[in-house]
Amino acid sequence: MRVVIVGGVAGGASAAARLRRLDETAEIILFERGEHISFANCGLPYYIGNVITNRESLLVVSKDLMRERFRLDIRTRCEVLSIDRRRKTVRVLDATTNNEYEETWDKLVLSPGAAPLRPPLPGVNGSRIYTLRNIPDTDAIRKAVDSGTVRSATVVGGGFIGIEMAENLKHRGIDVTLVEMLPQVMAPLDGEMAAIVHQHLKLKGVHLALGDGVAAFEEKAGRVVTTLASGQNIESDIVILAIGVKPEIRLALEAGLETGRGIVVNSRMQTSDPDIYAVGDAVEVADFQTGRPTMVPLAWPANKQGRIAADNIAGLDSEYRGTQGTSIVKAFDLTVATTGLNEKQLAAAGMPYRKSYTHSGHHAGYYPGAIPMSIKLIFSPDDGRLLGAQIVGIEGVDKRIDVLATAIRARMSVHDIESLELAYAPPFSSAKDPAVMAAFVAGNILSGRVKPLYWDEVEQLEPARDWLLDVRAEDEFQMGTIAGAANIPVNQLRDRLGEIPGDKRIVVFCQVGLRGYVACRILTAAGFDCVNLSGGYLTWHTATLGHDNTEVYEYSTIQTSDHILASGGASPAGEATRRVDACGLQCPGPVLKLFENIRSMQNGETVEIAATDPGFAIDVKAWCERTGNQLVSLSSDAGRYSARIRKGPMPTAAPQPVAGGPNDKTIVLF
Ligand code: FAD
Repeated sequence: MRVVIVGGVAGGASAAARLRRLDETAEIILFERGEHISFANCGLPYYIGNVITNRESLLVVSKDLMRERFRLDIRTRCEVLSIDRRRKTVRVLDATTNNEYEETWDKLVLSPGAAPLRPPLPGVNGSRIYTLRNIPDTDAIRKAVDSGTVRSATVVGGGFIGIEMAENLKHRGIDVTLVEMLPQVMAPLDGEMAAIVHQHLKLKGVHLALGDGVAAFEEKAGRVVTTLASGQNIESDIVILAIGVKPEIRLALEAGLETGRGIVVNSRMQTSDPDIYAVGDAVEVADFQTGRPTMVPLAWPANKQGRIAADNIAGLDSEYRGTQGTSIVKAFDLTVATTGLNEKQLAAAGMPYRKSYTHSGHHAGYYPGAIPMSIKLIFSPDDGRLLGAQIVGIEGVDKRIDVLATAIRARMSVHDIESLELAYAPPFSSAKDPAVMAAFVAGNILSGRVKPLYWDEVEQLEPARDWLLDVRAEDEFQMGTIAGAANIPVNQLRDRLGEIPGDKRIVVFCQVGLRGYVACRILTAAGFDCVNLSGGYLTWHTATLGHDNTEVYEYSTIQTSDHILASGGASPAGEATRRVDACGLQCPGPVLKLFENIRSMQNGETVEIAATDPGFAIDVKAWCERTGNQLVSLSSDAGRYSARIRKGPMPTAAPQPVAGGPNDKTIVLF
């Protein structure tokens, strides 16, 4: 049997190697248009960032090794131009010899991948506008960066590659502006989870222009002017275009194979011609949960599908069971991960759902270094089946998303997840692992033990009908609350029930939702109608922070340097007067600790405070702005935030909460 494979990277190389392991006698010919086979696409941004320093390590398996170990006939720089299905041949152009020839096949596997999108915008083919797919693209970008002439870059597209490029270019000391047409980065996330990523990118000094697409590019005096749909211009030395990919379906289309957005295949990866298989970024597959056609251009599906195609060619009965869209990306210190369906997809599929938010430490709080991660679960209101999960955090996100991805595959309900027995010792997790904790909260919602109110429903509250109750401690309340909320700390609630109106719905919230749940149980037992704000003040606050592009639009005049977010200019010379360690405290604990310290300092003195709660970065900036203290620098490194604050003139009166509209942020006056 002669098997011809088109495309020699993720899907194609997997198919070839698996087929040889199953069949010693098959003749396997692998055509690859480029120079390299089986290279590490996923590592390319990190080589540009010099995190991966050795170019050779991108070449995961060499041609020679593939030839020797698997006896493959590997033909690089050979492009398959067309397929003749009737004669079972492919026409090939050998770019080395410029020779065209035909090759016959018994079975054909297409794994041509997907090409970066280059929309027909004015100036889009300029020499300083790069896309990233393969090693030559990588070499070109790296060469430009290595030349030392690139001081600024505009990255267009806030997906996986855009975010990885932003990080790696920053790592090379380049000033980065990230432009995204949608109002959020990372489309697989829902907006309120993406808001956490926005804050972090800004903290890392990435200029973020959201909700503004590119209209045109123009090269001027050795630089590129990117004009946005809003009419704003961004000038930079290079542009990285990372707005998505287009499946390479031309060969299939011209051969008369059935195509939709991608090549249509059945669960055995067979196209409409049973002797032609197709895998990877070029194919349309069924979503694991909805069964609808979907395109998920990621490495796991490509590798898995390559293996399944080989199984079936070799006579095994192997089926692809759909893609659920599990993904993970590093965004500087953050890990951002998703699996299953998000709210937008569920709405489009007309599937009802409930959701829950939790913010749990990645390991036991009493063991040093616990850092919160935000988990959103989406589940069926009928049987609690887990439909989707999104996690944003610093540490331990990868293992929780994999637990939840496995749960979705196993069609488990949130109650099933509650009963999972996961590994625990203080340095690794909590007795109630964050994934299980999230399921407990979802389970409580599902069973009706607590009625949730979601962050986006807060603005619909009506004072005539709803009574907002903040059950956090008084000093937390003073740090900022939702406009119009009364404050009764949960520990005092049983003694102060008389202060609560019996004729209204009580909308309870705390910092992350846990004390709110306890309060709801107390109030329900006392006969009140109450709901708990899921994810608490933290989810609401982050989700409603909003984003405007002012900083980017004023970019040419601001000249913000990396890690310095305050308008105060350069760091003061010399040591900070005091150092405060607030690591391990949950917000607003670190800011309260800062307040305690700054109260006893003289004007002009500086304090340096370290914290691990990601909310600190937002809180400290807002607190300084409102109190007249000067945020001199704010940086984060490996999940540890460090702020330097110079005491400015401020009154010594006790803090007073300020009632603002629901869009007001940290509402504190001192
Ligand atoms: P590819 O791996 O792209 O291989 C297709 C090959 O076919 C290409 O080399 C092409 O030259 C060749 N070809 C096309 N047409 C022809 C023809 N007519 N004749 C001969 N050869 C042809 N996924 C993840 O899951 N995680 C990540 O972290 C991640 N990071 C990524 C980072 C970058 C920069 C990129 C570009 C991709 C990343 N991906 C990641 C996506 C992942 O690499 C792809 O989903 C996967 O490689 C798809 O495999 P494939 O075989 O379909 O296509």
